[in-house]
Amino acid sequence: MRKILIVGAGQSGLQLALTLREHGYDVTVMSARTPDEIRKGRVMSTQCMFHDALQHERDHDLNLWERECVRVDGLGVSIAGPDSSRVLDWFGKLDNYAQSVDQRVKMAGWLELFERKGGQLIIHGVTTADLDKLAGMYDLVVVAAGKGELVELFDRNPERSPYTSPQRALSLVYVHGLERRPEHPEYAAVRFNIIPGVGELFMIPGYTLSGNCDILFFEGIPGGPLDCWGDRPGPQEHLDRILGFMKQYLPWEYERARNVELTDDKATLAGGYTPVVRHPVGELPSGHTVLGMADVVVANDPITGQGSNNASKCAAVFLDAILERGDAPYDREWKNATFERYWDYAQHVTQWTNAMLQPPPPHVMEILGEAGANPQVARRFANGFSDPSDYQNWFLDPAKAAEYLASVRS
Ligand SMILES: Cc1cc2nc3c(=O)[nH]c(=O)nc-3n(C[C@H](O)[C@H](O)[C@H](O)COP(=O)(O)OP(=O)(O)OC[C@H]3O[C@@H](n4cnc5c(N)ncnc54)[C@H](O)[C@@H]3O)c2cc1C
Repeated sequence: MRKILIVGAGQSGLQLALTLREHGYDVTVMSARTPDEIRKGRVMSTQCMFHDALQHERDHDLNLWERECVRVDGLGVSIAGPDSSRVLDWFGKLDNYAQSVDQRVKMAGWLELFERKGGQLIIHGVTTADLDKLAGMYDLVVVAAGKGELVELFDRNPERSPYTSPQRALSLVYVHGLERRPEHPEYAAVRFNIIPGVGELFMIPGYTLSGNCDILFFEGIPGGPLDCWGDRPGPQEHLDRILGFMKQYLPWEYERARNVELTDDKATLAGGYTPVVRHPVGELPSGHTVLGMADVVVANDPITGQGSNNASKCAAVFLDAILERGDAPYDREWKNATFERYWDYAQHVTQWTNAMLQPPPPHVMEILGEAGANPQVARRFANGFSDPSDYQNWFLDPAKAAEYLASVRS
């Protein structure tokens, strides 16, 4: 059976590794950390995943936390006015629920499952020099190392990468004790609060090491008041600062967050990165080539919460391409074609996400306003998070937006 090496034990690498094992492939995963180190480490993401991505996990019995994890029923959008009032507030129902399982829980569990399924696990932080030595021993090497240094093996594609610097300063905490939104206590929902000119706050129900929780996640416009995490505050100070911003800009959300506590002292994160699309084939000094996957080759800002969804979809596309290849070589042409199959989908996510990083143009403001009056519009916007390729048909283009709004108003 063909031998495949996957570097990186995240959403994409482990999903691919586990699904290849199902088909009997000889799979080795190299992970920088043991399952225990992952569990004891810092949170890594907010990882809210929507129906289409979750279905890939269900199809392969990888949805191990589905029963415990709170179900996210919809998406709420609010816009804050300059006086911290709510100038817009609506809720769009998801046709199928979303879920967010802390990657510390999921990746540690999946690594252990991978070993139980007969996969080879090597705990090692891989360097380019390691890969150079290892590549000849495998039929295929996939680099799924997220935003780690191995991305340097893959050249940036300037035609697909409009940005050269981070577009948001990211900061989040996982908490217990958040009260339900009084307007919709029956729904657990992602709350997307826009503070024009300042940034966004996402509130995401999730499941962590200590059970269900909520995640408070600020995205700050660079140079603005939310871009203030360079001093690496301690856990409690990090939480207090986030609550202070909520009180200042989003008092309706602060009201239900007054009594929250951190889920654990590794439940804070701050940082930021430049959105980028890279060429998918990395060349090693020995001449061997490796294939990049998920964040290694398409890293978007988390403003649209798509990275784990993309990683899952990328793993599904790569699995199909590997299975279809049979015994033929995984050559450069196949690697490029495999990535382009994924890009057919990922381009829509990238285009939408990059657009959401800009101040909303008039047609988007009109859609957001209409959604407040018309649940059909709110619902279409919310469900686009599961398959963002729909946004090109009505949201991204002013003429198509006008046509759609006219159709729902008539
Ligand atoms: C603040 C924040 C919020 C987010 N919110 C969401 C959200 O709500 N929804 C969503 O879908 N996505 C979200 N994302 C994005 C999502 O977390 C990532 O896009 C997704 O995890 C990418 O999966 P991946 O498999 O490419 O890489 P990762 O999940 O990053 O996995 C990479 C793995 O490779 C390992 N690794 C790195 N270098 C090496 C090396 N040299 N050797 C061995 N191992 C190595 C790492 O330790 C890690 O285990 C968010 C991201 C951030 C930062």
